[in-house]
Amino acid sequence: MSQQRVATLFCRAQLGLEAPLVQVEATVASGLPAFHLVGLAATVVRESRDRVQAALLSSGYEFPSGRIVVNLAPAEIPKAGGRFDLPIALGILIASGQLRQAAVRAAPTCELYGELGLGGEVKSVRGILLAAAHASRAGHVLIVPAANADEALIAANTPVLGVSHLEEVCRHLAGEQPLRACSRTSDRRPAQARCAGEPDVRDVKGQLQAKRALLIAAAGAHSLLMIGPPGCGKTMLAQRLPGLLPPLTEAEALDCAGIASVSAAGFNLGGFGRRPFRSPHHTASAVSVVGGGAQARPGEISLAHHGVLFLDELPEFDRRVLEALREPLEAGIVRIARAAAQTDYPAEFQLVAAMNPCPCGHLGDCAATCRCTPAEAQRYRERISGPLLDRLDMHVQVPRLESGDFAAVIGDGDSSAALAARVTATRSRQLDRQGRCNARLTDGQVERCCVLQPAARALLDRTMRQLRFSGRARQRILKLARTIADLEGRDAIADIHVGEAVMLRCLDRERATSSCR
Ligand SMILES: [Zn+2]
Repeated sequence: MSQQRVATLFCRAQLGLEAPLVQVEATVASGLPAFHLVGLAATVVRESRDRVQAALLSSGYEFPSGRIVVNLAPAEIPKAGGRFDLPIALGILIASGQLRQAAVRAAPTCELYGELGLGGEVKSVRGILLAAAHASRAGHVLIVPAANADEALIAANTPVLGVSHLEEVCRHLAGEQPLRACSRTSDRRPAQARCAGEPDVRDVKGQLQAKRALLIAAAGAHSLLMIGPPGCGKTMLAQRLPGLLPPLTEAEALDCAGIASVSAAGFNLGGFGRRPFRSPHHTASAVSVVGGGAQARPGEISLAHHGVLFLDELPEFDRRVLEALREPLEAGIVRIARAAAQTDYPAEFQLVAAMNPCPCGHLGDCAATCRCTPAEAQRYRERISGPLLDRLDMHVQVPRLESGDFAAVIGDGDSSAALAARVTATRSRQLDRQGRCNARLTDGQVERCCVLQPAARALLDRTMRQLRFSGRARQRILKLARTIADLEGRDAIADIHVGEAVMLRCLDRERATSSCR
């Protein structure tokens, strides 16, 4: 047979959260045996040669003896991972005439993904959810590893066929044994019911002030720093923030799932539809927190998109990590520059941080004596730079409860469900007024939306003068006061709202008094 056959199959590459279509073309020409893989493929894709050869032979097919050329087009898109193995193997089978004509007709309407084992088994790959979302928009049927079928089904509106062996795909494409489309085993809408699993704020005994701060944080999407001795409940409080937030919309849930599907840990079906809560350890590297590495993967701040990023022991984090947080905190997006390409990941997270008041943790603690010198305590706090502190909306003290407090507390305040209902109502006021949460008001919007009553303006001016607050601190106070007034359903901000907002920024007052001395 002298006529050269070109087989064309489809797959997608992955660039950040994009999944551009890749055409996998294969030809087998007469000549000395050779296998060329062209089209800007990373090393792991080039290793595909050996896997495909072994998989074909062990599945009872021939590995063509001529000159095989596989082209991944367009060439300028970087391609990584083992996902191209399956279309490459099928391309070679079609080009060498080992699959029937039916396969050639079926191929253009589907996309194939999967890494091949040496025995021909189809192994799971990363990023299927994103690929499925794009394939679905193009109207393509998806042939994916069986282990990835549930993930694909979350985003796909076109049929999804899960396969576990190369032979199954061949029999399907040849029309011998068609595969059945997978069906959803779980509801893909993030329902209210899913939030029922979140821990309740009432599990935290007492701490009504900290719970009030948590409610305000939830209502206006404000960031929060809690300062208190070890064991006072800071982590428990932070873990209860997602339960106060409104349920994710379907679009938000898909955003989160898409980011997770391309992360190092991959997508976890059990977490689908839940508000992200990420708490990297203070020894975490900048790459794991912010994102990056050879594959430009998303970091913790992107995995916390639409959710909560909790940084416990904030001063212990590497300074570079903390400084790298500043820009995403403002912009809600992180840009990762690599030699091959530049990748943007969304990172609109709510920051909750916690710290001890001093290195030993017991400054101002009723139950233990602090062993630190004043200079040590000050140095510890100064590890958090002024610019980062300026970006935190609230700083509150979380004292240790004296043992008597437990008995004295009759109730522990409202349940998470009751607070969440107030948060939802307060958030809809903000969206109606300005289209975003109070924490994300622009400077122009602050002037327009934060209307102060005369007494409130007088209090704010006096506070600014006496405590010498920065302009940034003033903006934060206005936004916080806006949320506090919104929680009460008030349009104009009163002096009590400004007063509470000032109290919720204890480090401003501390900085003001230390500079007066
Ligand atoms: Zn101490």
